[in-house]
Amino acid sequence: MGVFDHPDFDQHDSLHYIQDAASGLKAIIAIHSTALGPAAGGCRRWNYASDADALTDALRLSRGMSYKNAIAELPFGGGKAVILASDDAPKSPELFQAFGRAVASLDGRYITAEDVGITVEDMREVQKETRFVSGLPQRGQGAGGDPSPWTALGVFLGIEAAAKFKLGADSLKDLRIAVQGVGHVGLHLCRLLNDAGARILVADVNRANLKRAQDELPVTRISPTKIVYADVDILAPCALGNVLTSVTIPRLRASIIAGGANNQLATEDDGARLMDRGILYAPDYVINGGGIINVAHEYLGAGGDDEVRTDIEKIPGRLQAIFETAEASGKPTNIVANELARRIVNEKRRNYEQEIATSHTAPVGAARRQA
Ligand code: NAD
Repeated sequence: MGVFDHPDFDQHDSLHYIQDAASGLKAIIAIHSTALGPAAGGCRRWNYASDADALTDALRLSRGMSYKNAIAELPFGGGKAVILASDDAPKSPELFQAFGRAVASLDGRYITAEDVGITVEDMREVQKETRFVSGLPQRGQGAGGDPSPWTALGVFLGIEAAAKFKLGADSLKDLRIAVQGVGHVGLHLCRLLNDAGARILVADVNRANLKRAQDELPVTRISPTKIVYADVDILAPCALGNVLTSVTIPRLRASIIAGGANNQLATEDDGARLMDRGILYAPDYVINGGGIINVAHEYLGAGGDDEVRTDIEKIPGRLQAIFETAEASGKPTNIVANELARRIVNEKRRNYEQEIATSHTAPVGAARRQA
C-alpha cells in the first residue's frame, strides 16, 4: 500500500518524515489541514511495532485534530507529530532539540505540544529551536503548562452531560465509572470523579501510575484485560486508541463511553455498532478538547485560567447538541460529529478560495482599466 492510498490519508495537506542520526530521532509530522489556521496538535512518543503503525497513528491523530479544533471553534487546522521510540533513541535534550528544528523548518504551518509520552520539560527543549510550540510552563496569570488537567476537566463535564442525557442523572454520585489508564488525563479525571462521589474502577499497564492512583484515591483496581468489559455505567477510555472494535463492542456492559483517549473507535463503523447496542458514545475529539483549548489560549496569549475554563465549559453543550442530532436523525454520534467538523472546515476552505479568487481578479481588472 502506498501513502496516498492509505485508508487514513484523507487528503492530508502534507506529511514530513524526519531523521536525525546524531540524536537518533525518527519522527513523522502529519499536517491534515491548515484551512482554519496553522495545524495545531501534540507530539506523541511511542514504541510502535512498525513504521507503518506510526504512520497510521500520525494520520488518524492529525485528522482528529482538524476535527477537534474545528468543533472547539479554534483558529487552528489539524496536525500531529509522532516520535518513534526505541532503545537506540532514548529521550534526550538533543532528540527534542532535533525535533524542534524539524518543527521550525515548517515555518509555522505546524504548532506542537505534549501528547502521550511527552512532558513539559521535553517541550522546553523543543522551544530552544522553535517558537511554534505550546504546553510550556505558565507565565504569570497567562494560560499554559501541562494541558492534561484541562483535558480531564472537559472529559468530566462531558461525562456529566452524557449521564444526564442517557441516564437522566443529575449527578455522578454513586455511578460506577471505569477509567482505563491513569496517566496524566486519567488520574486528573479520577480526582474529579471522586469529588463528585462516583465509584471508580481503574486499570493501567504501568504499575507506578496505578500505585499513585491507588495511594491517593479510593479506587478499585481491576485487570487491564477486564476494564473494558467491566460492569459499570460509564467506561472512560483514557489510555490509547482502538479500544472500541467489532470484537470488544459486543461484550461491553457500560451504557456510556466517554473518555479522554484519542481514536477510541477502531473504524467509523464501530460508532454504528455502539448505537445498535444502545450505548451512548461521546465522540472522543469533542469531549477531549480541553487540552487544546488551553494550548490555544497559551499560544495566542489570550487570557488565563478563567478564559480557558469558560471555553471548556462549552464542551457539554456541544455534546448535548450532537446527542440530540444523533437521536433525531438515527445516525451514530461519531458520524454526526464528523459531518459537523467537515462542514466547518469545508466552509472555511470555500471562503478562503473565494478570497483568493477575488484577490487574483482584482489586479487584472485594475490593469485592464489602466490599459
Ligand atoms: P499518559 O501516557 O500520561 O497516560 C496514558 C496511560 O495509559 C499510562 O499510564 C499508560 O500506562 C496507560 N495505558 C496504556 N495502555 C494501557 C492499557 N492497555 N490498559 C490500561 N492502561 C494503559 O497519556 P495522557 O496524556 O494521559 O493521554 C491519555 C490519552 O488521552 C491519549 O490517548 C491521548 O492522546 C489523549 N489525550 C490527551 C490529552 C492531554 O492533554 N494529555 C489531550 C487530548 C487527548
